[in-house]
Amino acid sequence: MDCIFCKIIKGEIPSKKVFENEDMLIFCDINPQATIHYLAVPKVHFANVVEMTDEQATIVGRMLKKIGELADSLGLQNGFRLVSNKGENACQSVEHLHIHILGGEKLSEKMG
Ligand code: AMP
Repeated sequence: MDCIFCKIIKGEIPSKKVFENEDMLIFCDINPQATIHYLAVPKVHFANVVEMTDEQATIVGRMLKKIGELADSLGLQNGFRLVSNKGENACQSVEHLHIHILGGEKLSEKMG
């Protein structure tokens, strides 16, 4: 499958990894939109929350819990924003579910 995030997970494309466990990889976004901009990506491939099975939703639940536990060590002690784009209107550009983790500064009140 020609998926850039699957290639990053397999180590075929380099990335700046900040965390890895059996569920996910967290790495730096190549085009950061905040002082801190990570992507949390499940190791199993699925496109977005609409495509997600119940089992995959359980993985995403564990990912969210772990992101919360890691927040301080990732430099996000003053808060952070999680975003997961789905489809054309949200400008999803990579068809492998990912959670943007944004922080390290005061973010805009506007999210759209
Ligand atoms: P989205 O637009 O929600 O699909 O987000 C995809 C994100 O992946 C964008 O913020 C890109 O900057 C990021 N991205 C694309 N290719 C890479 C890469 N090779 N390494 C790190 N981030 C990437």
